[in-house]
Amino acid sequence: MPSKKLFIKPCTKPLKLLKLDAILQRLVHNHLKHGELQIEFARYSAGYRGEAALDYFLHDLDENSYLIFHDLRLPRDKEKKYYFQIDCLIVHSSFGVLLEVKNLSGDLYFDHHFDQMKRTKNGIDETFPDPVNQVQQQKSYLESWLKRNQLPKIPLYSLVVLTNPKSFITLSPHYGKKAAHIIRAKGLANKVQDFSAIHQEILSKKDLSKLTSKLLKQHEKHNPDVLKTYNIKKTDLITGVFCPDCNHVPMRRERSTWVCSRCNVKSKDAHIRAIQDYALIFDEPVKNKTLRRFLHIDSSICMKNLLKSMNLTPSGPTNSAKYQLPIP
Ligand SMILES: [Zn+2]
Repeated sequence: MPSKKLFIKPCTKPLKLLKLDAILQRLVHNHLKHGELQIEFARYSAGYRGEAALDYFLHDLDENSYLIFHDLRLPRDKEKKYYFQIDCLIVHSSFGVLLEVKNLSGDLYFDHHFDQMKRTKNGIDETFPDPVNQVQQQKSYLESWLKRNQLPKIPLYSLVVLTNPKSFITLSPHYGKKAAHIIRAKGLANKVQDFSAIHQEILSKKDLSKLTSKLLKQHEKHNPDVLKTYNIKKTDLITGVFCPDCNHVPMRRERSTWVCSRCNVKSKDAHIRAIQDYALIFDEPVKNKTLRRFLHIDSSICMKNLLKSMNLTPSGPTNSAKYQLPIP
């Protein structure tokens, strides 16, 4: 188990990944967007796996000296109009380190001239913005954020961590000092400890707890409307409760139990996943009737009881009462 003391904000699956997963499971077969969504899903899950893999290497840091925050999304201005995002932030009483995590396999070429990174894999080239520039930009946003929140100024470092040991890295001839910002995951803990040797303590215990609570309080989860982004209609999605064993859809409701007509499996709680899918995909308050249609349930009392068993109660006037379904 990762130390709770060290990992103040642990690595969790991003909402976009959960949403893509739920939509892909329910997208009608042969839908035009299927391929595009699958590519996006693979990209986001590789990113998530990279960040999760990082914990293994960060474990070597002393839990009494470091605080680790995964996936921070903080406002760039008072009006909260724009945000900046940090894959991972390591805080020590005398400095901080921002990490941009890249979990890419293949050949990676860092090109100083066009500020880009090229990835070549199986003969296919892809270009990305130079991640060193990205993390340096985030560093300057974090500096302003600390100032705006009246927190002490601390030295900040920015690193790009390559978590895929199979990637082959090349730098353009004049990439220069920026190369020092690129590191493989296995060298990370040592590099961070080197920083601690050259700085004096700035943040008191009180400062550290103030910083922690401000980071957690101002963090806002990225919650994109995936249906809108990929232009997928409600009618493009398969409704019904999935069989937990063979994934057949829809299951039948018989005498307070879900029954699969393909494999005959019976389930008491197969509806939970369908309700979670609805919450993730549509992310809006929902009427009993709408959920009934989604789960293929006839009785409104049955629907009400299922929701009640999940501690969900409706709010609003009786004839238009809606449920606010929690998203994971
Ligand atoms: Zn089944």
